Amino acid sequence: MLIKNSLDEMKKREISLSVIKSIIDNNGRNSIYDLTGLSGGFLATSDDLSLLETYVGPAIFEENLQNLGKDHLGGEKILAVNRTSSGILATILTIVGENTEVIHFLPEFPAHPSIPRSCKLVGAKYSEFENILDFKNNFSDNVSLVVITGSTMDHKVLNEEDFKSAIKVAKDNNIPVLVDDASGARLRTAIYSQSKATDLGADLVVTSTDKLMMGPRGGLMAGNSELINQIKTKAHQFGLEAQPPCILAMVKGLENYREDDLKNSLSKKEELINLVNREFQMFEETPTGIKVSEKSLEEEILLNNYEINSKISSRDLCFLWAMILLKDQNIITIPVVSMPGASATVRFDLASNDAKELDINNLYNKIKKSFESLLKIIDNEDLAKEILFSI
Ligand SMILES: *Cc1c(COP(=O)(O)O)cnc(C)c1O
Repeated sequence: MLIKNSLDEMKKREISLSVIKSIIDNNGRNSIYDLTGLSGGFLATSDDLSLLETYVGPAIFEENLQNLGKDHLGGEKILAVNRTSSGILATILTIVGENTEVIHFLPEFPAHPSIPRSCKLVGAKYSEFENILDFKNNFSDNVSLVVITGSTMDHKVLNEEDFKSAIKVAKDNNIPVLVDDASGARLRTAIYSQSKATDLGADLVVTSTDKLMMGPRGGLMAGNSELINQIKTKAHQFGLEAQPPCILAMVKGLENYREDDLKNSLSKKEELINLVNREFQMFEETPTGIKVSEKSLEEEILLNNYEINSKISSRDLCFLWAMILLKDQNIITIPVVSMPGASATVRFDLASNDAKELDINNLYNKIKKSFESLLKIIDNEDLAKEILFSI
């Protein structure tokens, strides 16, 4: 394994950020394509920014945030937090007691690491299920919180029937439900015409204002006002709440969000799928793009009869390919910039802002060339390390 722990992941991320900076310094912002679907954004006018310097601004943003947030997520009250992970942590700190259990239902493993990590922090038991029957059968009297993931890190979306069944189990047992709808709040609704989590009966929902919308990295929570008040108090105690500049950017991101922008990425996706499937086996569709999992990437390499150095894990292969995509083809995918523990799946998100500027044939060539470069280095541990850990 080349990337062995969180520290290695952090180092890899620092290298990636330096590479991104040097590409932009040399050739300008338009020379790089961020296809993470997490491009964030800070849409603000100078008038908005000048308000940030007074006490008036936060008051104004707060009112807009409540209105726009409720339009987006439903619920009675909105809370802006620093990240989705912060919202998850604040909720678990508030609701979950030591030695009680958090039970998590999700469409596909893995869960976002912030959920088990937060449970560990409060000394709670944690279990997770991707099958609704297993979820039902493992529901105990000890459960204090149900978490449902609407759409995973890899954009696997929960079907609405299972969603409703999981909520019903929680309601029948009088247990609060938190929905991790980081990308789902938009993917489920815009692409799959599903209902908002709160309309399906969730007590709480958290979404990332950075995913599939032009907002900052931040978490937007909605739900029952009594619970939100308690979580808000806890968030303030631990510094988990979003700060005014971030709230301003959330408001602007919400104002500029259009379901149609997501829907328009679908035709580009079809075009790209047709191209990649002619040459490769490893690609899978996502709601707004394509992806390659660790396992599929490894299988594709073996299909090409290339030998992989025994020190290079399947997860490393994803990091390596993503780094080659960045260094040689100026394409940013999540594995190069991700936080420790995040999924290593290489995903090309055509709902990303930069995808608008990228010709699909050109993107296909970049994908193909970078994969060919990957094949050439995977028998060589030293070369692979150099690609990951030096600029
Ligand atoms: C991205 C994501 C998170 C975490 O979002 P952060 O803003 O990085 O904290 C949590 N859950 C899911 C399903 C996600 O996709």
